[in-house]
Amino acid sequence: MAETGYRTTTRRTLILDAVRAADHHLTAGEIFERVRRQDPRIAYGTVYRSLHVLAEHGLVQELTFADQASRFDKRVDRHDHVHCLGCGALVDVDVPVALMAHHVAAEQTGFAILSHQTTFTGRCPACQVAAGGSSS
Ligand SMILES: [Zn+2]
Ligand SMILES: [Zn+2]
Repeated sequence: MAETGYRTTTRRTLILDAVRAADHHLTAGEIFERVRRQDPRIAYGTVYRSLHVLAEHGLVQELTFADQASRFDKRVDRHDHVHCLGCGALVDVDVPVALMAHHVAAEQTGFAILSHQTTFTGRCPACQVAAGGSSS
């Protein structure tokens, strides 16, 4: 049963809708929880595999972090993220300087750069308040 080309299935549509309806970047586990409300018999493996098929076909974007679960993004255009080390919040940001970055990377390495995205890490406003605010 080799996967050839993209087939629309009811479950994939359900999974894609869950990603698109989300107001932030969900992990496969969070997407599974949402999809299961619509389809209680769906298996985690089905959701996980479907997310990767959707990502391969450019319908969602998979964001990987070295030490954490992948997040799935409904935005498939190039954009950057800010990631909170305190609560794990992941927020979209468009940084103009990033447009230059892949030219510099190509120049220095000779690679044909196909994509890049930058993740800025730090603490979100809520976590700064929780940490006491005045300390830096
Ligand atoms: Zn935070
Ligand atoms: Zn994003």
